[in-house]
Amino acid sequence: MKSGKVALIGRPNVGKSTLLNALLGEKMAIISDKPQTTRTTILGIKQRPEGEIIFIDNPGIHRPLHKLNKRMMNLVISSLETADLLCWLIDATQPFGQGDNFVLGLLEKVNRPVFLLINKVDIIRKDKILPIIDRYKDLLPFKEIIPISALRKINLDILEKKIMEYLPEAEAGELAEEKIYLPLRFQVAEIIREKLLAQVEDELPFVTAVYVEKIEDRTSGQRLEELDYTSLIKQKEAASSALEKGSSKTKGIKKKQEPAASEVKKKARRLKGLIYINASIFVERDNQVGIVVGHRGQRLKQIGLEARKELEAILGARIFLDLAVKVKEHWRDKPEVLDLIESQKEVLTRKD
Ligand code: GDP
Ligand code: MG
Repeated sequence: MKSGKVALIGRPNVGKSTLLNALLGEKMAIISDKPQTTRTTILGIKQRPEGEIIFIDNPGIHRPLHKLNKRMMNLVISSLETADLLCWLIDATQPFGQGDNFVLGLLEKVNRPVFLLINKVDIIRKDKILPIIDRYKDLLPFKEIIPISALRKINLDILEKKIMEYLPEAEAGELAEEKIYLPLRFQVAEIIREKLLAQVEDELPFVTAVYVEKIEDRTSGQRLEELDYTSLIKQKEAASSALEKGSSKTKGIKKKQEPAASEVKKKARRLKGLIYINASIFVERDNQVGIVVGHRGQRLKQIGLEARKELEAILGARIFLDLAVKVKEHWRDKPEVLDLIESQKEVLTRKD
């Protein structure tokens, strides 16, 4: 079996998150048509018969303008160095620009095999692909150059097969799949942040952050924030498909219910209940609070409403979302606040 890490890199909006989601088939990363929504590294595992691919979706690459960005740059560089293979995504519809040049500069510093992925080929003419290849092919000693469409899932199987060729062999029992989990806290924070950014990113670019303080199952009193998101979703899917089976079994039976079906329904009902989520939105200055809260609180209400809907669908429970806006002056310069935000992800945590 093979097992290795792949870093997807490229300037904002080239389609890194879309590709990750297409490959993983599950909503793990935020997709946005605004740059830089993926502030943290998100990790997902693609399993294939030949082994597993551990994908790293980097923060959008951009020039360091601020301390946070420098920190992000260090994150990007260190993730590049831990990867077994780098996939440089470019946007086939865009000319080579500053952002691409910056990525190139980074890639030149890292001694790792690199693939060039020419994305969005679904919306360009076929005869435009060759000139793009010509433009890029001598910039780095690319191992492969593959035109793809993350959105339309073109050439993704070929991509996965080629990636496999560059990953190291792993011993049985060494596979990451069983050892890695995505904490629920992180997924919840990402969902809230997605809704928040949709509302305020134009006015407050890069100054907001979301920190999830508490996730509690109000029925059992159990704290859920460190729960494994992936297995939670699997559990939920299993329960709802069992429920479907149960209800199809009862079709045609008017009043009496089969005991098996009612048992299944009871199990599914257990997923309902009420989950209390307490999250904070950090801003940097007093006057930014009003921007997030909006006129008569409408904006914060809208953010909460949208996040709640999505969380209810994902978690299969009613959600009480307690959202507060807090001023953390210059949080982007404060290591303790940055650590707090980053601590939510802890994506490479070992299960014991
Ligand atoms: P990121 O910033 O690199 O993570 O980019 P995103 O994944 O957020 O994608 C940015 C935008 O490009 C979104 O509107 C996507 O729907 C779009 N996009 C991504 N991949 C493709 C593709 O293969 N074809 C087309 N037509 N659009 C794409
Ligand atoms: Mg992204």
